[in-house]
Amino acid sequence: MHLPSPAPEFTAPVVIVGAGPAGLTVGNVLRAAGVECVVLETGTRESIETRPRAGVIEEWAVQALRARGLADGLLARAGLHTACEFRFNGQRYPFPYQRLTGRHHFVYPQQLLVTDLVREYADVRGGDIRFGVREVELHDLDSARPSVSYRRDGTGSREVVHCAFVAGCDGARGVSRAALVDHGARISRHTYGIGWLALLAEAPASADSVLFGCHPRGFAGHMPRSPEVTRYYLQCPPGDDPGNWPRDRIWEELQERLGAAGADPLTEGRLTEKRVLDMHDYVVEPMAHGRLFLAGDAAHLVAPIAAKGLNLALHDAFLLGDALAARLTGGDERGLTGYSQACLRRVWDYQEFSQWLSELYHGTATGDPFRAGTTLARLRRLFTSETAAAAFAEQYLGTATHY
Ligand code: FAD
Repeated sequence: MHLPSPAPEFTAPVVIVGAGPAGLTVGNVLRAAGVECVVLETGTRESIETRPRAGVIEEWAVQALRARGLADGLLARAGLHTACEFRFNGQRYPFPYQRLTGRHHFVYPQQLLVTDLVREYADVRGGDIRFGVREVELHDLDSARPSVSYRRDGTGSREVVHCAFVAGCDGARGVSRAALVDHGARISRHTYGIGWLALLAEAPASADSVLFGCHPRGFAGHMPRSPEVTRYYLQCPPGDDPGNWPRDRIWEELQERLGAAGADPLTEGRLTEKRVLDMHDYVVEPMAHGRLFLAGDAAHLVAPIAAKGLNLALHDAFLLGDALAARLTGGDERGLTGYSQACLRRVWDYQEFSQWLSELYHGTATGDPFRAGTTLARLRRLFTSETAAAAFAEQYLGTATHY
């Protein structure tokens, strides 16, 4: 009789589920500390290295990447943003945050950061990464010896990795958040009731800064990504069909909502991405149970209103990587014990800023004259009160000294 062969089994101190910015950063921190780990990723290497999403990275996050030898590509190629500009009531309102604070943002497309992190993890630091895995399942998270099983693309058999810790870094659509919720974690959710049409245009930037158009027809955003590519956003109904937005309608709305006295018209170009994002947030508390620790979008989603998600993912990843390394190399439990709380303080702060900023972007388009009035007062205050400007800059740049 022919018996089926047993599932191939592996062991590693840490399994990292997901090779986004969070998972790859945890992996690199562990490799630098001499800790073995296995990264499991459903996508191919090519797919994760070409998936465009974020672009705005805060200065503290770049400093932390640099301190760990992970910022060479970024520092060589990233743009610097020193100001943003609001446009409302047909006028331009530049907000020169570097002049106010001495601080700036880095602009580096997320897919380039992911490419750098994969290369460093797999090719330079010799890390184990398995692409194209399917049906990932987490097991025995309450025990001292959990495991993660999965199928590899192209083979029918399941494989298992036994480990001491699992880092759940599989983003908003992964499996590790559900595993944590099954073990009693709470999810808090917020829905903005609006959508954004997210666009990428093969067009140079039309201004040398980010532009926020706060217009009665809806919000519009202009975010330079590289000399050849600009990201645009247009507020739309949630769940809207991108097919409702032919090219001419898109550029007409962008020109209208971002138009202002003395401003050049936008430089138009071929649209290479067009999808509707429903604006919503969630937070999982606590971010850990037993031997499972979540990081990044797996634990908290923040709508791209304030460009914070990638920054939070990196913040979690530095804390988690260091805490796992301290536990596995020196038996020090403190980082893991305090991990969830240390992450969540910044998470809730950024969520609150996102809500505040949402009203600034969308309030004039609610059709409610009262909300339009308070939104315009909030906008004007940024340009008439140094105190209000300093508070905005601190949250926008993520530079508070305590969270
Ligand atoms: P992800 O990047 O989602 O990575 C998770 C990985 O896990 C993926 O590679 C996925 O394929 C893999 N995976 C999923 N399920 C499984 C599974 N079951 N098993 C194994 N692997 C799995 N943030 C900013 O800070 N600044 C910005 O300017 C900004 N702009 C944005 C613009 C847009 C249009 C969008 C959509 C997001 C933006 N964000 C921004 C948010 C940012 O992109 C995310 O917060 C960031 O990608 C989170 O990183 P992550 O590693 O947690 O998750």
